[in-house]
Amino acid sequence: MTAYGEIAHHGLLSAEDQQLVSAAATSVTVQRSNHEEFSAEPAGLSSVVEQTSSIDALLHGAYEGDVSFGELSRHGNFGLGTVQHLDGEMLCLDGEFLQVRADGSVHGIPPETLTPFAVMCHFDPDQSYELTSPHTWEALQQQFDEISDNRLVQAFRIEAFFDWVSLRSVPRQYRPYPPLSAVTATQTNWQAEQVQGTIIGFRFPSSLQGLEVPGIHLHFISADRKIGGHVTDLLLQSGVVQVQQLSELHVEVPEGIHVAEADSSEEVAAAIRGVEGHSS
Ligand SMILES: [Zn+2]
Repeated sequence: MTAYGEIAHHGLLSAEDQQLVSAAATSVTVQRSNHEEFSAEPAGLSSVVEQTSSIDALLHGAYEGDVSFGELSRHGNFGLGTVQHLDGEMLCLDGEFLQVRADGSVHGIPPETLTPFAVMCHFDPDQSYELTSPHTWEALQQQFDEISDNRLVQAFRIEAFFDWVSLRSVPRQYRPYPPLSAVTATQTNWQAEQVQGTIIGFRFPSSLQGLEVPGIHLHFISADRKIGGHVTDLLLQSGVVQVQQLSELHVEVPEGIHVAEADSSEEVAAAIRGVEGHSS
């Protein structure tokens, strides 16, 4: 494992990136490893977020990973991401991995399946509160911004009844892989209405842009496991929110993936906003 401070020597992070990462209070470790090393890493620290690859790698069409869901399960029981070949939206709830394909169908994921991008933690909330009045997506985001320490990563779990949730997923890709911005032009969108379900997600400080999607990234699954996807908008009726502050981020970067391309330019920020479909 390599501390981020040593990464610049290996050309993994540009000087600019290094400054950005230094500005975050979340301790960041970027490691270039093979999947044997990743799977051998100890699990169980409740303050740690584990991530395979970077959002920047995904933006550049790195849709094949070397980490299996079996290995991922040793790094947490809670998380989100995608499936090999960008085959839909993935979420992990209480240790169960679920895939939502572009046709909206929901599937369990076999442990031998691989992923190019996943964010995982051991969910152990240190804060919980009830929402007794309706909340829009904007109101919810604002609330999360207010309770978040902007120097740390937060994990969120919302159990609620929703008037509606707008969802999307992306279709499986084939070589040569197009960039993510081209893929999201073909994404499919749908809406769950009058539905009980769970939203899980993370909020990343803007200082981690390039490694992460800055801001809030949420995935939804209905209580009956019939409808899910990446959340683009919602109207929440009532529910319970649980929050966990995470002070350590480990990013595993497979061979051949460069994070040095990550930058904080408005162009990249706009590209990420575009593919994530967030209104902020
Ligand atoms: Zn997503």
